[in-house]
Amino acid sequence: MVLASRGIKALEGAGLALPLTLLNPLAGSCRHLANGTMRFNDYPSEPGFQTFGTSRNALVGYLQESLLLGRYPKLKTHFGYELVSLGEKKNIATFRAFANSNIQGMKEELVEVKYDFLVGADGANSAVRSQIFHLEERNPHSSNKQEPLKMDIQHNVQNFKSLYIGPLVARKSFLHPYHDRVQGWSSLNLLFVGMADGSFWGGSFHQDLVSATTSLEVEQKLRQHAPEVLELLLEENPNFAEDFVKQPPISSGSAIILSRFHHDNILLIGDAAHAMFPTYGTGCNAALEDCLIFNKLLDDFLSSGPVGKVPFDEVAAEFTRRRRADAHVIVNLNTTKELFPRNFLGLMQMQLLTTLHKWAPRFFKLRSFNQLWSDMPFTEIKLLKSMEDRFFYGILFGLGFLVPSGILFMLGVRNSSSLNLKPTF
Ligand SMILES: Cc1cc2nc3c(=O)[nH]c(=O)nc-3n(C[C@H](O)[C@H](O)[C@H](O)COP(=O)(O)OP(=O)(O)OC[C@H]3O[C@@H](n4cnc5c(N)ncnc54)[C@H](O)[C@@H]3O)c2cc1C
Repeated sequence: MVLASRGIKALEGAGLALPLTLLNPLAGSCRHLANGTMRFNDYPSEPGFQTFGTSRNALVGYLQESLLLGRYPKLKTHFGYELVSLGEKKNIATFRAFANSNIQGMKEELVEVKYDFLVGADGANSAVRSQIFHLEERNPHSSNKQEPLKMDIQHNVQNFKSLYIGPLVARKSFLHPYHDRVQGWSSLNLLFVGMADGSFWGGSFHQDLVSATTSLEVEQKLRQHAPEVLELLLEENPNFAEDFVKQPPISSGSAIILSRFHHDNILLIGDAAHAMFPTYGTGCNAALEDCLIFNKLLDDFLSSGPVGKVPFDEVAAEFTRRRRADAHVIVNLNTTKELFPRNFLGLMQMQLLTTLHKWAPRFFKLRSFNQLWSDMPFTEIKLLKSMEDRFFYGILFGLGFLVPSGILFMLGVRNSSSLNLKPTF
């Protein structure tokens, strides 16, 4: 995944400085076109803009290790438990020990846990979110007489399968010189991100490729659109095509807009609160940013309230207030793709704004699209985009009005002067 400034800042807020062995600095992207040429796009290198390729598994491993290293002596972690319900009995969550539940005939082991505060960070299909809806349906007036919780959900029809090229093969390949760029093949909706160990992780959203049922089909598709990539994948794993067919496709997510992220002393964060399409690679960065905001809120409440007492209902409600507008904006921007439309006008606008920024950085900020790699609030990015649109379409409108008016004016002058000069007999 691509980890950017807002994610890094959140990790720093938790006192973590990610080791360089986890981070591959990214200079930009590189699109491989059908005619064999490449098109480069640079990420901003100004202070405050950071973009890294990082392995999810390595990042999760590092976070887990940091948690367990004893900085938090009261912390306990439990794995292998799945939340199944939040009970009528106040503040009781029931978990299933799913390690046992698959064995036929074996009684499911259910564990009840009492909580003071519950944070649902359980992803786009959040069970905590479903349970909040159940709780509110059963007792509509429970949540401090708020508006009923509402959810808009849009499913992404695209599925995704992963691809991997290990460090040994990658280092001697044609991809290696561009290891610091996200590499894309539009014709196959395929991309690779370089990792710090020299490998490339990536995948494809191309429906024909992802739904191929034979290894022959997989090889044909890749040979047709990216033959050089197929060679590398086969060098990495001679059974690559068979394994690719067997790999279960994963959903590329949903776009979820929730009217609030809390219910009493239960809070939703990350994809559970605001899942988004992976268009701009912002979901995880936004989820990490949620943690920073939540942490700040806890600090604020702890420093202003009675010692040792945290009013969790208020913290949760305040989180919704601080985060809702930004979360809704980034979910929508990933769905509409409006920050960087790849049509003729979109590309023209990008070119113009990039050039103007290079010439006069004091007057023309970095484009709204690039601001995704900073920690600028998403609502401000949206505002910047509206200003850019007004500026660009204003110029187009001006040119569209002025040029024809100018031509008409010139024609008028010519006609009238030729009329005046015409000799009369
Ligand atoms: C193809 C693809 C590429 C992406 N690339 C990027 C990128 O480059 N950069 C980026 O920022 N984002 C990216 N994203 C988005 C990113 O993956 C998500 O936004 C991010 O993982 C959300 O984190 P989360 O912790 O909220 O949820 P998740 O990562 O979904 O984690 C939820 C966790 O909850 C657990 N869980 C689920 N149900 C229960 C239950 N009932 N009880 C207990 N535990 C449960 C799950 O096992 C899981 O461990 C991408 C997404 C996709 C699909």
